[in-house]
Amino acid sequence: MAEGGAALKVARVAPGRFDFSAAAGPIPVEVIECARSELHDWRRSGTPVLSLPFTGDAFREVMTETEAYLRALLGIPDNYRVLFMHGGASAQFAAVPLNLLRGGRRACYLDSGYWSGKAMAEARRYCSVEVAASSADTGYDRVPELPSLRSDAAYCHIVANETVNGVQYHAFPESGDVPLVADMTSDFLTRPLDITRFGVIYAGAQKNLGIAGLAMVVVREDLVGSADPATPGILDYAVQARHASHYYNTPPTFAIYLAGLVFKWLAERGGIAAMEQANRGKSERVYAAIERSGGFYRCPVQAAHRSQVNVCFHFADDALTQTFLAAAQSEGLFNLAGHPSVGGVRASLYNAMPEAGAETLAQFMTAFARRNG
Ligand code: PMP
Repeated sequence: MAEGGAALKVARVAPGRFDFSAAAGPIPVEVIECARSELHDWRRSGTPVLSLPFTGDAFREVMTETEAYLRALLGIPDNYRVLFMHGGASAQFAAVPLNLLRGGRRACYLDSGYWSGKAMAEARRYCSVEVAASSADTGYDRVPELPSLRSDAAYCHIVANETVNGVQYHAFPESGDVPLVADMTSDFLTRPLDITRFGVIYAGAQKNLGIAGLAMVVVREDLVGSADPATPGILDYAVQARHASHYYNTPPTFAIYLAGLVFKWLAERGGIAAMEQANRGKSERVYAAIERSGGFYRCPVQAAHRSQVNVCFHFADDALTQTFLAAAQSEGLFNLAGHPSVGGVRASLYNAMPEAGAETLAQFMTAFARRNG
């Protein structure tokens, strides 16, 4: 991490090239610059950051600072544990039922799109999955509301933001005494949260927190320690929660180091509230370009359910999709293709996408519509 409390140096941004990939978010240039300067020598300790031994004092310091930054950013209460786990968000699709069923046999899932489907498919290996509500019938043009919840459900799972379908919960379901579990892989740290609403929040790191290989888990303390006895140690929240005193295995050290830099970068830019404001502004610019186009572009998602981080749209004439993608790329706007399961265009506007990226895209869309409409 940048030495002591020193601010990350403001780095020069390569002008005019923006990457809208949904799979991996941009890494802030200041973070890259800082990591580059420490690759060979972490805080002039002589220890290369690329090979920080997890057993040493340097890495312990990195872990402690990274967790402290995250707790401060989100206001995580003391009765929640912060876990740094392997296996991305997909490992959590299994870890959640393994840790939370606690002898129960039933879990409730809200089906809001592609990633809900993946989470449910994995959970069905361990329990009976009750699909409490689904928006499949309307082509995932909204997030489903939670009608009523069976009291024997061990937990209720949502995907806070569906990366593929471009729908997002702007108000979270009330699940009463049943712990609410949220996959926030694509919108963690993009908006403030009342953590106490959740039993578990998890997120793969590669979109808003740095690089792949790490999943952040925030779990309420009373849900730790009752994993199914067959749970692999690497997925057991209680085993992972002991990391402060005892590591189960080698953590993804570089990914954790980088997440720490990203957290610091966020704090220096006004924290999560400032990110939310910027993200709202970015997505509004792109949605406005869609609305202004008089039907040339169509967003399939109902206005109140639109994602602030993954903006999806199609053309009235689908044949224009490839022309659009090629023209966008020639103007420095990369990776705008929609997910293969839905096609069309998807602009991902994660935290590190500068406002200029959204503005440039919106202007390009308006000019393209004028040329081709
Ligand atoms: N959930 C959501 C909402 C995602 O967007 C993704 C990845 N795109 C995943 C889960 C899977 O994440 P990972 O690749 O880290 O397993």
